[in-house]
Amino acid sequence: MSDESAVCSAKGCRDAAVWVLAWNNPKVHTPERRKTWVACEEHREHLSQFLGVRGFLKDVVPLSEWEG
Ligand SMILES: [Zn+2]
Repeated sequence: MSDESAVCSAKGCRDAAVWVLAWNNPKVHTPERRKTWVACEEHREHLSQFLGVRGFLKDVVPLSEWEG
């Protein structure tokens, strides 16, 4: 994931991602496994909520920190 190609994971959104959402689905992933979505400022809330209600969301961090 390079910062130049990081585009928001929200459906239809082409904005540059600035947040990383780390998540894990305990039914299919081992506990230490992390899947990631990236989100623009506008969709961070929406995607966090989507994962949060399912109990999948582990962490939300700025993209710059995630890569650093
Ligand atoms: Zn977006």
